[in-house]
Amino acid sequence: MVAPPGIPEPGPRYERGAHARREMFDALRSDADNTRHPSDGGGRAWVESSRAARASGHGQWTLLYEAGPHGVAVGGRILLQVSPFWHWSTPQTREPRAPGFTTVESLAEGVELAAETLDQQLLGIEVGGRALGPGERIRIVYGAGEAGARADRFAERESRFFVAVDGDGDGVREWIDESPAVDVAAGDAARLVLHLPAVARPGEETFLTVAVLDGGASAGVDFAGEVTFGDRAESVSLADTLVFTGAEAGVARVPIRVDAEGIVRVEARGPEGLEGISNPMRVSSEAPRIRFGDLHGHSNLSDGTGTPEDYFRYARTAAGLDFVSLTDHDHWGIPFLDARPELRARIRRAAEAAHEPGHFVTLHGYEWTSWLYGHRHVLYFDDGGGPWMSSLSPEFETPEQLWAALRGKPAMTLAHHSAGGPIATDWSIPPDPELEPLTEVVNVHGSSEAPDSPGPIYAPVAGNFVRDALNRGYALGFVGSGDSHDGHPGLAHIGSASGGLAAVVAEDLTREGLRRALQDRRTYATNGPRILLDVKLAGHAMGRSLAVASLGDEPGLVVDVVGTAELDRVDIVRSGAVVASAEGEGRSDLLISYPVRALRAGEYVYVRVVQRDGGAAWSSPFFLE
Ligand SMILES: [Zn+2]
Ligand SMILES: [Zn+2]
Repeated sequence: MVAPPGIPEPGPRYERGAHARREMFDALRSDADNTRHPSDGGGRAWVESSRAARASGHGQWTLLYEAGPHGVAVGGRILLQVSPFWHWSTPQTREPRAPGFTTVESLAEGVELAAETLDQQLLGIEVGGRALGPGERIRIVYGAGEAGARADRFAERESRFFVAVDGDGDGVREWIDESPAVDVAAGDAARLVLHLPAVARPGEETFLTVAVLDGGASAGVDFAGEVTFGDRAESVSLADTLVFTGAEAGVARVPIRVDAEGIVRVEARGPEGLEGISNPMRVSSEAPRIRFGDLHGHSNLSDGTGTPEDYFRYARTAAGLDFVSLTDHDHWGIPFLDARPELRARIRRAAEAAHEPGHFVTLHGYEWTSWLYGHRHVLYFDDGGGPWMSSLSPEFETPEQLWAALRGKPAMTLAHHSAGGPIATDWSIPPDPELEPLTEVVNVHGSSEAPDSPGPIYAPVAGNFVRDALNRGYALGFVGSGDSHDGHPGLAHIGSASGGLAAVVAEDLTREGLRRALQDRRTYATNGPRILLDVKLAGHAMGRSLAVASLGDEPGLVVDVVGTAELDRVDIVRSGAVVASAEGEGRSDLLISYPVRALRAGEYVYVRVVQRDGGAAWSSPFFLE
């Protein structure tokens, strides 16, 4: 045991903008400011024929491009950008036997084409001989060799073969209006995942979510067969078996009722070695309701896999989440949504269509993808959603400008991958206390909590962890979320070393109920698994700001954790350091009582749970005043 550390050391100071990726920002802005020739982005393209693929499988796709009214000049280019998301073969014209071999053929006499790979997944086709006139066509066969071309490792609808045109050959290109899209089917059944709500009341009718997924955790598996549920206590009412006919795309909900208090887990087995066990569900007449959700993720409208509609469907039917938000980028990925109102409207419609208050809540939002101050996703808690204020716009370039524009709206911002990864958060700017009460401590990029965290983020910036931000005196509660780009909100940790979930204590499963709970920091974070965590200080719930004088001399910290695997340890973090650890001793649940001596105003205390399988959870801190 270490002596109480007292008032935290403030985090290291740095100049505003010290971690900015200025070159990235400048490149995006100068590209946006470029003048386009009328022929740039002209024409249309479509899939002429295909030998379709399953996830990670190989296929062949034949595309036709037809020049627009301005044609493509000699020296102009047609660019084929195969989706850069998730391992599509790079189109190449040199190795007929290697995956991704691509042939290019002019269907216009006198037009000669020269194709070369320019970058990952990017093929440039230069026009020579004479200009490609309006309505004239070229044919591109992607995967023309015997190896075909490898598709996305994750199943998805509408994966795009993006086509851009630099019609005058000045090096500035523009995407055509609608690039051709193809579907990638799910692979064979390989995983059986089961989810229960975190909390149920004795005698309450609720549901077990059962999903048969492929090896990459994609849904849409063609599966017929019987799933058998394992032994359970007499107080648990659940069917013995579940039969999939093949019409369910591998997902089902099974009614379950538990009459006695306690912790319930359901095990299940299917054909061919499929087996799974659910998360723990606490059955209690008193325990506050914990809701699990994912507040941050991407679809193939920016830089992820899968459509917005499928994102929401997956969150509910495969991942069994209580709430979710799709937060595609404002100006990142392909295309740039800040310039595409019709695509933003599609996301908004998909969120509205999936929203069912009391059962499954969707939040509107987007990611303010600042390469100057760090990324923040913006959440809106009203029914219509709110504006997308682009980080590239001079009006909304700084966090202060963003917060000023959001002030008074039912909105929230969350800094994420704040300790490093793609870009670190500029913690020299204090988070707005109203609009940013929380931070996303963990996601697919890893944990930003502290350097000694399980699964820490890549490319960390020393002194820029969330713990350093708390040491600066910022009062931030904790959530996790996926930042999934694989189309698997809520289950991003299956395909990645880390994922993230937001656990929110809210009886009222509505947008407004979630807003109040998030605003009050009634939250904890996990890196994916649905760990149950309850932490109290002198009887107060986690996330509170508490007056030291009101707590007595030696307030007790009580930690009640029910893991999804054997616990390695539970750490108590006080004002910058781990001050105590309880060993898991092979158990998956632990109840700890720890007296916190001589607390002073300005301190904070939180709890970190570490499982032996790498799963982890972080309570929101208590803030002492
Ligand atoms: Zn981001
Ligand atoms: Zn993101």
